[in-house]
Amino acid sequence: MSTPTDPHSGTLSTGASNPRRRFLFRALAASMLPALGTRCALAAPPTGEARVVVIGAGIAGLAAAAQLEAAGVTVTVLEARQRIGGRVWTWRGVEGLSLDLGASWIHGTEGNPIAALAKAKGISTVPYDYEDFAVFAADGRPLSESEVEAYEKRFEALAARIESTARAQRREGSDRSLGAAIDAAIRNMALDERAERALRNAVSHEIEHEFASPVAALSVRHFDSAESFEGEDQLFPGGYDAVIKAIAGGASDIRLGQPVTRVVVDDEGGCEVHTAKEVLRCERVICTAPLGVLKARAIEFEPPLDAERLEAIDALSMGALDKLYMVYEEQFWGDSARFTYVGSPPGQWTEHLNGLLLTGRPVLLSFNAGPYAVELAALEDAEVVARATAVYRHMFGDKVPAAPKAFVRTNWARDPWARGSYSSFGVGTSPETLETFHEPHAESVYFAGEHTHTEHPSTVHGAYMSGQDTAKRLLTGLPRTGDRRGR
Ligand SMILES: Cc1cc2nc3c(=O)[nH]c(=O)nc-3n(C[C@H](O)[C@H](O)[C@H](O)COP(=O)(O)OP(=O)(O)OC[C@H]3O[C@@H](n4cnc5c(N)ncnc54)[C@H](O)[C@@H]3O)c2cc1C
Repeated sequence: MSTPTDPHSGTLSTGASNPRRRFLFRALAASMLPALGTRCALAAPPTGEARVVVIGAGIAGLAAAAQLEAAGVTVTVLEARQRIGGRVWTWRGVEGLSLDLGASWIHGTEGNPIAALAKAKGISTVPYDYEDFAVFAADGRPLSESEVEAYEKRFEALAARIESTARAQRREGSDRSLGAAIDAAIRNMALDERAERALRNAVSHEIEHEFASPVAALSVRHFDSAESFEGEDQLFPGGYDAVIKAIAGGASDIRLGQPVTRVVVDDEGGCEVHTAKEVLRCERVICTAPLGVLKARAIEFEPPLDAERLEAIDALSMGALDKLYMVYEEQFWGDSARFTYVGSPPGQWTEHLNGLLLTGRPVLLSFNAGPYAVELAALEDAEVVARATAVYRHMFGDKVPAAPKAFVRTNWARDPWARGSYSSFGVGTSPETLETFHEPHAESVYFAGEHTHTEHPSTVHGAYMSGQDTAKRLLTGLPRTGDRRGR
């Protein structure tokens, strides 16, 4: 198995032990230190010029850069990692398999620009069937059809109660946490212990996995406010990064391994973008650093971001959804597309995808989110693999081998260039909160990325559209070449 090349540990670990990657991370962290606290690094590093600097070569940054270049604007993209794609990351370290460690699905094909792009570029996709699933009780017994129906009905009843709480909060003009609303609703439903456990498991895989945040952090009014496209969901058998490669072709100057530490806007609106290696002067900046990076204040802005924007950054939620791929010699599971485990305690190892249907090879993909993803993030690989194996044995019996042939595991919350999986509506926030990103900071620094798209946050297509929209907004205010402000 080969070694992933992301220049940091924590995001991902594999069946192979990897001290080199840890070393690389330390070296990188050390190389960043002088730049982080420096206020006048201008004299030392070489300087360059671009009309626009884009921070981040995820899909939002690449879409923005392609749009600007198509309009004849010189763009430089500065990317912290040693690869493009950000949270779209297809990993090929296990025997030629294409495993998506970040985004997997196109959500809805009708009107979805990613679906259109995949079609136009001839990128292969396959439909995903959400109805094709099997549910297992904590003791491993498959649930009968009537038990599954009862399980679904209870979740629908809970959803109706949540909706009524949300309506009441809207009438009162207030908000509360979705977790508190769920606890109150479950108390009123007077369920026995087994039924409550099943319902809390459903909360985990239907809500926490979907929104990548613990329900305690989500707004009961707005957690589900994003819009969606009609049509089927699709997966990429050859990897989602085909989309990234197609878009990256539109950006000619992408500089990897360049974490931006500081963005300075002068009195005339001209900008300097600082990395440890260089300072770029430009007329405008588009910052697509993820919400988690903004929360951590990992990029210093001069002048500082205004209070309203900082409040929005802090109030939006950025939780974790993590993936564990387990690769085996032989299939020991059934033919359903998905397996749900109603385990105890609830919210642990609830969702597993049959990777065989996508890759043609014996692969299981297990998800964890919410508080349990945080617990797993702190554990060694061997412990995580052992816990997954124990759950597989509950579901599929003794034929499950003691260890997989190979595995790969993500840890998005510890990834310094993401610091979480994707944004969601925290208590007190709404789509309106995202609008605070739409005005440029100090008239020159624009924001794009999934966390800035009012209708489709948290998604690849939302990030893509935000990049394009931001580039268009910027172009309308950009002076023509030749009118450049004294630089
Ligand atoms: C596990 C997981 C599953 C997901 N599943 C789906 C799915 O099925 N479907 C879907 O539509 N969406 C899914 N998403 C969400 C989707 O991946 C993201 O919404 C989207 O990729 C975000 O794109 P972006 O360009 O906004 O951010 P990113 O892709 O994170 O790009 C930002 C870039 O900025 C870089 N950066 C950060 N800090 C700096 C710095 N200081 N200097 C320079 N560069 C910096 C980062 O390295 C990164 O490359 C999933 C995400 C995860 C993590």
